[in-house]
Amino acid sequence: MPTTRFAPSPTGYLHIGGLRTALFAYLFARKQGGKIILRIEDTDQKRYVQGATENLIKTLSWFGIEFDEGPYLEGEEIKEKGENGPYFQSKRTEIYKEHAQKLLDEGHAYYCFCTPERLQEMREQQQKEKKPPMYDRKCCSLTPEEVKSRLEAGERAVIRQKIPHDKLIEFTDSIRDEMSFDPKTIDDQVLIKSEGFPTYHLANVVDDHFMGITHVIRGEEWLPSTPKHIALYQAFGWEIPQFAHIPLLLNLDKSKLSKRQGDVAAEDYINKGYLREAILNFIAFLGWNPGTEEEFFSLEQLIEKFDLKRVQKAGAIFNLEKLDWFNGHYLREKSVAELADLVFPLIDFDVKKDDPYFLKSVEVIQTRLTKLEEAPEMLRFFFTEPSYEEELLLNPKMKVTKETAKLAFQKSIETLEKISAEDFEDEENLKQPLLDLAKELELKNGQILWPLRVALTGEKYSPGTFEVLAALGKEKSVERIQSYLTNL
Ligand code: GLU
Repeated sequence: MPTTRFAPSPTGYLHIGGLRTALFAYLFARKQGGKIILRIEDTDQKRYVQGATENLIKTLSWFGIEFDEGPYLEGEEIKEKGENGPYFQSKRTEIYKEHAQKLLDEGHAYYCFCTPERLQEMREQQQKEKKPPMYDRKCCSLTPEEVKSRLEAGERAVIRQKIPHDKLIEFTDSIRDEMSFDPKTIDDQVLIKSEGFPTYHLANVVDDHFMGITHVIRGEEWLPSTPKHIALYQAFGWEIPQFAHIPLLLNLDKSKLSKRQGDVAAEDYINKGYLREAILNFIAFLGWNPGTEEEFFSLEQLIEKFDLKRVQKAGAIFNLEKLDWFNGHYLREKSVAELADLVFPLIDFDVKKDDPYFLKSVEVIQTRLTKLEEAPEMLRFFFTEPSYEEELLLNPKMKVTKETAKLAFQKSIETLEKISAEDFEDEENLKQPLLDLAKELELKNGQILWPLRVALTGEKYSPGTFEVLAALGKEKSVERIQSYLTNL
């Protein structure tokens, strides 16, 4: 059965690139009718962050990315499911040690006693000679007796992989096709650190093998590690999984996506009020496309369409405008009631969720919203009476002066009073009378509509005057205009 995995390190948050890797692996597994495993790569104890795994699980499941095996949450407690566990590398230390020993026994690995100082000197020398930094194999030629006595004497040692130098390391990547590496350029990687913990490389290969992983889908940044992994599979005599390295994420200026240029945690986008559908749709297009003009895909549709063959090699530009665009689309697709449900928890002023006036206000802002977090500000004027702001009201560009504003307020109150409360709710019934009024008073439309909009909303930007009047209703509208008039 095609089996893949998502293998994050618990660093505290889910990187947006990690979310894409998880999504692609998930889509692949579901499309193939296969399996996806979640494995926590927590071998680096120095980087351990409290609560990081819980956070990863919560975030992935918020997106609807579900795993067949691995850790999951039952309430606040982490449990594990599946027969290939444990799924935390920190619980598998013995397996790694055992396999490192096997490599030692068969001549595919060796003890290295070089001190950090010696390694530092070596690297500096290599730098001077403009050679790539890599271990010079000093300890590779130690005799078994020497190794034994130094270990017995308690000298600190790591275990290094012995990369065979006699043939090219080759594999076919699902996205990058034929890959070939000169083994002399591949470093003899540390497999077991001096304190006995494995490095990512050994743990990753051992786990992928024992967890039955047939497809390794991961970011391009791991490509330089792959020849080392291939050499390990070969040393163990294990079948090599199919690799697929998905392209880097780039900033608009084509530099590698970094924290400095914006948010890189998936949680940040959730907290900003982006919709799940929008983030998923946006992420799916980072390096993949369906080969058609279609742009909107639900998770189910992505599963149906996803194909590793359609993933590009070139870096994928992380363009937030595109995310806003997707988000605006999905916000407009919601029913007013659904949108009201989403907006309600963000609101910090007094509203009732099922109040028709609240629903009406949400309907008015729906087409203008690109992010949920903008909603409270956009809705505020519906629920709080604007205060008088002369500077905003008197708009020289629109030729609004105190005199014209006064006239506009007085006369439009008269006009609006003549419209029934029921008719008031349809902006079409308000348009003509107010435009006729402007003509009659020999004022420009803006000389009426601007002051009214300011009196009704107190905002520089808002939906148009007719729409606002209809949404506020007759009573509130007239009251607010009256109050501005009194202030003039
Ligand atoms: N632990 C690695 C990471 O954090 C996994 C890389 C891989 O998928 O092999 O991304």
